[in-house]
Amino acid sequence: MIKKVCCEFCHLNCCVLATVDKGRVVKVRADTSDPVRKGAVCARIAIGPEVHYHPSRLNHPLKRTGARGEGKWQQISWDQALDEIAGKLSEVRAKYGPEAISGSKGTGRNRSWMFSRFFNLLGSPNYTSPGIICRCNTATINVLTYGADTNTRLASLSTSARCIVVWGSNPTETSPVLWEAMKKARKTGTKIIVVDPRRIEAARIGDLWLNLRPQTDGAMALGWLNVIIGEGLYDRDFVEKYTHGFDRLRERVAAYTPDRVSGITGVPAGQIIEAARMYAAARPAIIPWGLKPDQIGVNSTQACRSIAILRAITGNLDVEGGESVPALTGDIRKIIPDSELEGYERLSPQQRDKQLGGGKYKLLASSGYEAVVENLAKLDYSGTMVSANGFNCSPAYLWRAMLTGKPYPVKAHIVHANNPLLQATNTRLVYDALKSLDLLAVIDYFMTPTAMIADYVLPAADWLERPILSRFELSRNFVVAGVKAVEPEFERRNDYDFFRGLGIRLGEDWPWPALEDVFDYQLKGLGYTFREFVEKVRGVASAGDYRKYEKSGFATPTGKVELYSTIFEGLGYDPLPAYQEPRDTAVASPGLAASYPLILTTGFRTRYFYHTEHRQIKSMRDKHPDPLVQIHPATAKEHGIALGDWVWIETPLGKVKLRCELLRGTDPKVVHAQNGWWFPEQAGEEPNLFGLWQSNVNVLIDDDPEKCDPITGGWPHMCQCRISKVD
Ligand code: SF4
Repeated sequence: MIKKVCCEFCHLNCCVLATVDKGRVVKVRADTSDPVRKGAVCARIAIGPEVHYHPSRLNHPLKRTGARGEGKWQQISWDQALDEIAGKLSEVRAKYGPEAISGSKGTGRNRSWMFSRFFNLLGSPNYTSPGIICRCNTATINVLTYGADTNTRLASLSTSARCIVVWGSNPTETSPVLWEAMKKARKTGTKIIVVDPRRIEAARIGDLWLNLRPQTDGAMALGWLNVIIGEGLYDRDFVEKYTHGFDRLRERVAAYTPDRVSGITGVPAGQIIEAARMYAAARPAIIPWGLKPDQIGVNSTQACRSIAILRAITGNLDVEGGESVPALTGDIRKIIPDSELEGYERLSPQQRDKQLGGGKYKLLASSGYEAVVENLAKLDYSGTMVSANGFNCSPAYLWRAMLTGKPYPVKAHIVHANNPLLQATNTRLVYDALKSLDLLAVIDYFMTPTAMIADYVLPAADWLERPILSRFELSRNFVVAGVKAVEPEFERRNDYDFFRGLGIRLGEDWPWPALEDVFDYQLKGLGYTFREFVEKVRGVASAGDYRKYEKSGFATPTGKVELYSTIFEGLGYDPLPAYQEPRDTAVASPGLAASYPLILTTGFRTRYFYHTEHRQIKSMRDKHPDPLVQIHPATAKEHGIALGDWVWIETPLGKVKLRCELLRGTDPKVVHAQNGWWFPEQAGEEPNLFGLWQSNVNVLIDDDPEKCDPITGGWPHMCQCRISKVD
């Protein structure tokens, strides 16, 4: 029997066919009838059954019986688990208020709305996600600047783009589907510019590689703007008709001359000029989203702003081969969006104002979130923003409130398929914070370091055993859906049952008994039940028309692309992009650099693992057994380190070890460490916690609020470090 499912190992949710034999999934393969990607998938789908039947999967609800982290568990029923968790949450709410109950989710992948709904209906604004340092930052800034999130339409990139800028991402490893489209474009002469401190594969086949100092992306983008505006290379007609604040932008970027930007970034001025000219001349051009500008701390928001402005003033917005602006038209508009399910409006203004860090980092707090979202309604084809993706409490403030009780106590935390001990920085502080709680409950697929210190651990159903209706309406113009291939194994349940079960016990309103009932409700306007939709339609996409702004303008307060942001002005932030030197660099802190002379960047990923996931999956781990740190051969030699040696990386916060991989294509002063490493094969009990402290680079990185982005609270993924060979 063949079942139409959707892969959920990443956000693309490719359509997949699962072969089921005698109730077992024996194979998964691409579904070429996928209305959107036509069967393009990555190699990771093959591990679907391996993950599904893995002997280490969580299969039953567990309650802690020993000390936290001791690894003593009692198997209990779902009802008992939900009753007891809800009972403790009720006590916390009665004693400290709903804001004392907090939550963190993982990457979400279609389930953000149920997580948000639970907290919104409960009355707590203290839920968060990695979105602050991954995409949600970019998406919110794109909407703020031109009223829409831009995205990459693979077909038009591969056939029509004349220039592709790979800025802070490594598509060969992290987005194979995009990488294939780029290679296809390259064969037709499309220019490729890479902005990255590593000579990645795209740089090897590309025209220009700008090897910039980590964290200086914002300065680089301002340098490009200086050249493009100074030399009159922008799209004059577009700028005149459709932008707001060009003259003030011109004045601002005049200070970022190629020579000055060269001094900041370390890239020769001639290369900065050449790249800016190449990008501006080769229209249509595209800068697909790259993760790194979201992760550079104090300059993050303004770097993303400058990149958004580059896209606009060069006339590349909403054109074939350029920056796709998803339009939700036709049948998609008949589908009820996730944002209507999450109930943000039911979180009272008084409770929104209590959001931790919300007064400091306003863009992702209620004032900024609402100012941005309000404009989306101006255009009838706009998507909507799911609040957990644009509305986040500050993790840095959250952990500190747990530890200090200031500005008020936080006593409980729900972890939704997340692993904060690996995902968040300043691991020691996060660990102390989570261990101080009255209640920590986790729902996940596998036991993780975070789950090990929890009071309750609930087993989640995976994408082969749960239905999916996939829509990220802000960022894309299609919806796909898949049924579950098989019934959940053992006592695994989908997370909707978890949040609904808890919510109902706490007096919340969840009118749909099961997840498929929610999807039936969402699809009602199309005249299909969820199952009919999967069987007969599978997916719908809006027509790909371009230059929609010629008729409707942009969904911003001025109706134009806001080069000068009136929203930032209203929030009290600089309305124009700028660069500031981060605190912990050799430039700003020479004393620190004397002891820690190298620059550490973290967060590099490989195709085998998505963030902290799947370290226990043999077929992936065999291909990539150890955490890696990439070091220039000269630097390695200077430290007596050879290829394959284990290497200590040390910062003022601690030290961890990773295996040396030699990388010639980088500055000798920069080392690049992989993130997300833990060792499921090791002991889970304290103090080891699956090797939490061994190779987890987030141990090394500070989340001091003053080092985070001043507008969103995003933390840096870089700092000064030193290295030595492990004996
Ligand atoms: S992991 Fe691969 S197959 Fe699965 S959704 Fe992502 S790109 Fe598609």
